[in-house]
Amino acid sequence: MAAPVPPGAPRQQPPPPPNYNPNYQQNPSSLSDNLQNLNLNRPPSMPNSAPRPSPFQPPHFPSSAPSPSFSRPGPPPPGAFPRPSVPPSGSPPPALPPNVGTVRPTGPPFSQPSPFGSRPPPASLPSAGSGVVMGPSSGAPSFGSLAPRLGAHPSPIASSTTPSSVPPSVSSGGLVSNGPHAPPFHGGPRFPPSGAAPQPPLMGPPTAGAARVLPQAPSMRPLMGSSGISAQQRSPFSAAPQGAPSYSAPPQGMPSFSPPPQGMSPPAGFPFGQQTQTQPVAPPPIPGSAPPTMFGMPPPPPLPNQMTAISPVVGQTGGSLAGSSKIDPNQIPRPIPGSSVILHDTRQGNQANPPPPATSDYIARDTGNCSPRYMRCTINQVPCTVDLLTTSGMQLALLVQPLALPHPSEEPIQLVDFGESGPVRCSRCKGYINPFMKFIDQGRRFICNLCGFTDETPRDYHCNLGPDGRRRDADERPELCRGTVEFVATKEYMVRDPMPAVYFFLIDVSMNAIQTGATAAACSSINQVIADLPEGPRTMVGIATFDSTIHFYNLKRALQQPLMLIVPDIQDVYTPLQTDVIVPLSECRQHLELLLESIPTMFQNSRTAESAFGAAVKAVFLAMKSTGGKLLVFQSVLPSVGIGALSAREAEGRSNVSSGEKEAHKLLQPADKTLKEMAIEFAEYQVCVDVFITTQTYADIASISVIPKTTGGQVYYYYPFSALSDPAKLYNDLRWNVTRPQGFEAVMRVRCSQGIQVQQYYGNFCKRIPTDVDLPGIDCDKTIMVTLKHDDKLQDGSECAFQCALLYTTVYGQRRIRVTTLSLPCTNNLSNLFRMADLDTQFVCFLKQAANEIPSTPPLNVREQVTNFCINILLSYRKFCATVSSSGQLILPEALKLLPLYTLALVKSTGLRIDGRIDDRSFWITYVSSVSTPLAIPLVHPRMIALHDLDTKEGNESPIPPALPLSSEHVSDDGIYLLENGQEGLIYVGSSVDSKILHQLFGILSVDEIPTQFVLQQYENPLSKKLNDVINEIRRRRCSYLRLKLCKRGDQSGLSFFSYLIEDKVPTGGLSYVEFLVHVHRQIQMKMSS
Ligand SMILES: [Zn+2]
Repeated sequence: MAAPVPPGAPRQQPPPPPNYNPNYQQNPSSLSDNLQNLNLNRPPSMPNSAPRPSPFQPPHFPSSAPSPSFSRPGPPPPGAFPRPSVPPSGSPPPALPPNVGTVRPTGPPFSQPSPFGSRPPPASLPSAGSGVVMGPSSGAPSFGSLAPRLGAHPSPIASSTTPSSVPPSVSSGGLVSNGPHAPPFHGGPRFPPSGAAPQPPLMGPPTAGAARVLPQAPSMRPLMGSSGISAQQRSPFSAAPQGAPSYSAPPQGMPSFSPPPQGMSPPAGFPFGQQTQTQPVAPPPIPGSAPPTMFGMPPPPPLPNQMTAISPVVGQTGGSLAGSSKIDPNQIPRPIPGSSVILHDTRQGNQANPPPPATSDYIARDTGNCSPRYMRCTINQVPCTVDLLTTSGMQLALLVQPLALPHPSEEPIQLVDFGESGPVRCSRCKGYINPFMKFIDQGRRFICNLCGFTDETPRDYHCNLGPDGRRRDADERPELCRGTVEFVATKEYMVRDPMPAVYFFLIDVSMNAIQTGATAAACSSINQVIADLPEGPRTMVGIATFDSTIHFYNLKRALQQPLMLIVPDIQDVYTPLQTDVIVPLSECRQHLELLLESIPTMFQNSRTAESAFGAAVKAVFLAMKSTGGKLLVFQSVLPSVGIGALSAREAEGRSNVSSGEKEAHKLLQPADKTLKEMAIEFAEYQVCVDVFITTQTYADIASISVIPKTTGGQVYYYYPFSALSDPAKLYNDLRWNVTRPQGFEAVMRVRCSQGIQVQQYYGNFCKRIPTDVDLPGIDCDKTIMVTLKHDDKLQDGSECAFQCALLYTTVYGQRRIRVTTLSLPCTNNLSNLFRMADLDTQFVCFLKQAANEIPSTPPLNVREQVTNFCINILLSYRKFCATVSSSGQLILPEALKLLPLYTLALVKSTGLRIDGRIDDRSFWITYVSSVSTPLAIPLVHPRMIALHDLDTKEGNESPIPPALPLSSEHVSDDGIYLLENGQEGLIYVGSSVDSKILHQLFGILSVDEIPTQFVLQQYENPLSKKLNDVINEIRRRRCSYLRLKLCKRGDQSGLSFFSYLIEDKVPTGGLSYVEFLVHVHRQIQMKMSS
């Protein structure tokens, strides 16, 4: 019954004619033809359905709603809507070459007066050597000044430049086709080919409002820098404490969030828009940029080997842990604070420049290699042989985030249009033209840097070479001087016209969802977010609800009121109404708003506890099949009936003692294959599913998450759902979901130079052929890990390149190819590998692999693997590279000195906590699978800051105070602390905090009054204002609306807080940080002597 409908064989009706577009079907009589199995607007007659009020009574939110505090939030504050049509005044970009407008696709991000003018003079950029922070840890500063480098997150602000597109997988060699697969072609000629499409403003990143300021004198900055940025504007995520405490209104004044006025094409300077340009780009040389010389220059001499030795040594003789007391906790490696923005040139002196830490605040300038935001490698030099790599204990992998948000001060990615011929590519490996392809023979031929093949230069692309051997036009052509460019895709890259932007909202209206306020929260959030959807005729929407049956709504304008169409068969789901359930937003906005206001009332008396989640998702998929699009599901209970029904196996697992701990991890696997098979079909038709789980019970995320994971989507988790405190997060999450830079119907492939090949991809996608990943949806937050392997030796001194090509369709219907290239030197020297190791990338790759292992391996084994990974690297360094010979010291390579701390943090993380809730662990696993590097680190190693004395610290560049070590020694009973990991923020209130402070911050007089559900409010005092500023700044930088919770000693909340203090010893057996270092050291000694 759940058998997938074969492509092109819709049930219940004959296949549509070739040009049929279900969403534009105008023939009213077709309606009845399609409705033979539907009950129109007759809920009472439906078997199993409770009587329902007519959908369109005057909407009124139930005043007696179960969640009293949740009333429909008013419209967003007036300031939120109008999107400025021009970049904020400020000075016009100085000295812009006349053709800049057309050349640079993207305008300046909002609130950034002149992106072009802001580039620091080259002379002030840090030198290559400064790219890596390698300070000895020994002189560690006192705790007070230990700002976490975790805190230094790249700001979410920036905009993305462009949207995406995807090409057909025409040949096996190229970025192959993606796009909706063959059968579903009804889309027809309705949408203009991408080239002619209006330029889409990419929706701004949430934070757009937050202008970052370049430090006045961007000279050399410490690498691990952080802050330095001041929050100039309201955070987009701020739960604006304005008047409506229980529900945060949308951020005010956030231009980036609001849609452009209808019908307007984005101004040239629009932050996210691309320009409409159809000519091949001949960009002017970038002022101040030294022409990168890609070939022929000798590599700079290696830096001296740096390391950290911890002594006095501990456990030197393999003795007891007592030795640990000798370690001075102030000397052990911890993240180093940084306070300013780092300026990073991706290449300098014809040499790849190692990137700053992923968690630092940096502004990258693309001087040939891509910005590390888009792609970074675990090691910034590539080992020539597999033996060398194996010896190092490290792994070789890439983290690719192809649509990552740039910093607002970074130059936008340039759009290049080669016209009908499409981008120049290697005829053998299909690699795209890039700065490392070498032109020879007076420019008539070029050698591919990926496969080594020599091609003829296309006649109209010929250019003579200059005395330096480079093409004379190399600096004018972005594809020859930039590590990241975007190409306009030609017809060759489309198997159909680019798809429209389709958003379908599917809402749980079962009894629990209604009674907990989850349905009302979902409807309200959607209603507010409609205004943020891309404007224009290509934006289509649909809505459905479900409990034990599925209810579609006909939103067609001609109707007086939306009709409800019920699909009662939840086993053999059929195609619902083919027309009018997905309609252009511009034609149904009022109907949609009315409907959303009515839904909570319509079902308020529902007693249907069952949830047909799987069937509902499938039915909606059938409606979306001809176009593809985004399906956003709001779900509150365990799916219990119909296709893909699940059981409460968590409880079963607990009661079944015989299964024991060994089997417990199996609950982290999907219950069966039904949802996976459905998901693969969704992916094939370019339907991307996001699931917002607002629940108070076990929902089996392990099973449900398979759908988002396979379709390029995401799981959001609100547990236990609170109608008081969660709607604000739900709204902000949803808003960011639809406004962040993103693309549809994408396909991605990574190519490597000869000698290296891709081993595996990890992330949220569907894979049909070994070389490509299919991404029905891709957005700026999604990261894909690519593991690499040697298939040959590389030559010392040569370079090895990695090229990621992402073919995608923008939300405005343009087909684009984003090409990101990173070229790194090859080395035969083991010390170089350690010197050039990228801690963040290295660790995050291991984190992702560990998360991938957890469902199939007992947690103790995973912990052991994680620990051994760390030990093996340090052992190799100790054996082959360390220059200190005392066996009494634990020697850490400087670049990896935090590896033990992060490893310990991973061992103690939610995903590996045996006592954790199954759904919490499943959510952690699914979150990790696509999380970006900057967010992955705090997930495992959160940031803790003191809040009680915020108003006594003046003069900091950043509103966020320095981070404290994650140790209870730093938590005082009379203090208040925030611990945040990018997802949630736990505010711990010590038991003897001054009641004056309690009153200023929370409006209470004693710790006993701490509420279980917390909504941040701003009171009229400086301390409260600072707290709000801090929270908003963190939300802005993380691009994530932290879920806040108050914690106190003596109850579960307190335990939860302290469980994140990973430097502490855990009573149940977890080692303290010092003990862990001792353990690692002892293991290394044992292995050295064996
Ligand atoms: Zn090639």
